[in-house]
Amino acid sequence: MTLTLTFWGTRGSVPAPGASTAYFGGNTPCVELRTGTNALLILDAGTGIRHLGRSLLERANGKPIVADIILSHAHWDHIQGIPFFAPLYAAGHEFTFRSVPGALVGLEQALRAQMTTSVFPVTFDALQAQVRFRALNEVERGDGYALKTVALRHPGGATGYRISDGNSGAPALVYISDNELGHHDGYSSAPGWRNELVSFARDASLLVHDAMYTADEYERHRGWGHSRYEDVVDLALDAGVQRLVLYHHHPERSDAAVSEQIAACQKRASDRGARLEILAAAEGTTFTV
Ligand SMILES: [Zn+2]
Ligand SMILES: [Zn+2]
Repeated sequence: MTLTLTFWGTRGSVPAPGASTAYFGGNTPCVELRTGTNALLILDAGTGIRHLGRSLLERANGKPIVADIILSHAHWDHIQGIPFFAPLYAAGHEFTFRSVPGALVGLEQALRAQMTTSVFPVTFDALQAQVRFRALNEVERGDGYALKTVALRHPGGATGYRISDGNSGAPALVYISDNELGHHDGYSSAPGWRNELVSFARDASLLVHDAMYTADEYERHRGWGHSRYEDVVDLALDAGVQRLVLYHHHPERSDAAVSEQIAACQKRASDRGARLEILAAAEGTTFTV
């Protein structure tokens, strides 16, 4: 049994379409995850979910689409695709928005607020598909998967996920979008937070992690809730993951600059004597875990 994930949006903060971002992609975060039993989980709902919606409708060929939409948090770049997710406008499909219990009410408020007529012509209540909101258990067992959560360091809070095959518990995908690994006094994390995060990601087959800033950029954006490349590589090495996928690319980072960062990250890993496969999330690419 395997998990299969496809990136539909890889860009952080704001869509960044154009010739210089065409390869890694300009849409904000969205990942399609299929379990070994072909259940559908959607991780985050940035503008990438618009293309996913069209693809799902084509593949469904008239049959109902059922999915859990698991959100890391309600920041704009993680929910702004929802009003453009076509399956929500057709009766017969079923979507359940999922989040940790403490974030669910705020999440529903944010989704409704971005579909009020002052900012968008169609209201959330006018959606034709069946829509639910349901809190995630600390360990959630669903159709072909088991999922655990971890609190991240991000203004307003965000949640990371470890998702594994439902029976074996391995191999695992760890999805951490919007997380600041560097030091900042603004977070109330317990002193051992980093060790806990290393344990959370331990031996993952694939770690997808926020990689927003270079070291120089980071010094101007400390406390904004994102990580510099060096810290992400160190986390992956300390956790012994097999593959690291850089994610939530800075909107100003060109394809050439992302490629340069991959090379710099690989050098950092090899300087530490480690063998770690490092890639960057690109729209349309699929990984099996
Ligand atoms: Zn974000
Ligand atoms: Zn955020």
